[in-house]
Amino acid sequence: MASESTADPGVAIVGGGVHGVHLAVRLLEAGVVERDRLRIVEPDGLLAAFRRKCAQCGMRELRSPFVHHVDVDPFSLRDFARSRGREDELVPSEVGAERPTVELFFDHAAAVVDRYGLESTLIEARATDLEERAGGVDVETTAGRLSTGACVLAIGHGSSYARPEWARDLPADASVTHVWDDGFDPDTVGETARIGIVGGGITAAQLATTLAQPGRDVTLFARSPFRVETLEAGREWMHFSGAVDELQALPPGSRDREQTVAEARRDGSMSPEVFARLRRTIDRDWVDLERSEIEAVTPAGGTVVLTCRDGTATWVDELVLATGFNSPYDAPLYRRLRDGTDLAAGYRGAPVLDDDTLRWRRVDGTNARVAVSGIAAQGVLGPFARNVIGARRAGDLLVDAFEALEFAPRPT
Ligand SMILES: Cc1cc2nc3c(=O)[nH]c(=O)nc-3n(C[C@H](O)[C@H](O)[C@H](O)COP(=O)(O)OP(=O)(O)OC[C@H]3O[C@@H](n4cnc5c(N)ncnc54)[C@H](O)[C@@H]3O)c2cc1C
Repeated sequence: MASESTADPGVAIVGGGVHGVHLAVRLLEAGVVERDRLRIVEPDGLLAAFRRKCAQCGMRELRSPFVHHVDVDPFSLRDFARSRGREDELVPSEVGAERPTVELFFDHAAAVVDRYGLESTLIEARATDLEERAGGVDVETTAGRLSTGACVLAIGHGSSYARPEWARDLPADASVTHVWDDGFDPDTVGETARIGIVGGGITAAQLATTLAQPGRDVTLFARSPFRVETLEAGREWMHFSGAVDELQALPPGSRDREQTVAEARRDGSMSPEVFARLRRTIDRDWVDLERSEIEAVTPAGGTVVLTCRDGTATWVDELVLATGFNSPYDAPLYRRLRDGTDLAAGYRGAPVLDDDTLRWRRVDGTNARVAVSGIAAQGVLGPFARNVIGARRAGDLLVDAFEALEFAPRPT
């Protein structure tokens, strides 16, 4: 862990997930900042939150192709696999481009983190607030204040998970967990337990096939028909294109931008490979499919009784919610910033960003020294903003934007 010094590093990146790590690599590679003037503020360790989510839902391979990873050279991951005799971990897909296994993706990412010495930039802390000052930004963290020349927010969804209405006021000891809760681990689920999974998208499907085994009773509560799509949006959104231009022609931070992105995203869909696995487990009777919607849940002596809309009731030992994320703009840090600073907020609290630089606009229309990457930048980059390819597009903009910023001279 880097010291908690307040020395003026050039850039602080808040969040050490896929976006934070890739942006760090891009800024170092482009020489925008030296490593000893770069800090990544992340409470859980670099890439740990994403790695944990992949394990929690039992994901085997990424949905995105092998050219989407945290390094600069698009073929870096393929070369990494070849040089270690791991080409068989590049899994064919229906659209031709192979996808890396989760293990290969993270082994490659760890090698990139090592190559750029990113562990030395890590401050193991949570950012709680930002304050702009002349020529820079002060980042308040749980480990103290950090003075920086500029800051990038790359906090993903910020741990805000969606729960159905009936799951919001249950007693703390009820056997109902969210798949992304820190405490959920599919490896600790009882071998003969009755398990219910709520959700009809890729996470629910992956979890169902992971938990399915002879002797365990797994029911998938999926109220809507499955939607099978290779990608989470049309390919035209992956690059700066006419689709992105049309999005950016709409007013920044507007409802129209949010709606355009929502309509373009194929939320709740699953890839053909995951669907094929799910279908096999259902055909083998390892997973029961229940189409009726759960209406109420009652904890009862270590189990939970589920009442469905069609009037039927059943019970499970454990109910796991695979019901997605809440709005990223509701993360505590975003709420704090739109309430307590002059950074401009748009529809549903979205940060109003400059399309050319991803820098957050102040209410007076000038650009702050705070930029945003990840899902919260979807109003600029479109439906893939949250994905690995979104980090790469954000990197293209941020390198230029930060090159143009004048950083305070290195303290002597
Ligand atoms: C199971 C799963 C599978 C996916 N598969 C793919 C895929 O195959 N291809 C693809 O392109 N995309 C995929 N995605 C989308 C995926 O979320 C992104 O590609 C990627 O994880 C987003 O990176 P991120 O850095 O924006 O967010 P995250 O990976 O969530 O990282 C954000 C980081 O910010 C930290 N943080 C949060 N708040 C603070 C704070 N206040 N202070 C400091 N740090 C903070 C968190 O601890 C976390 O480490 C998948 C998502 C999930 C959940």
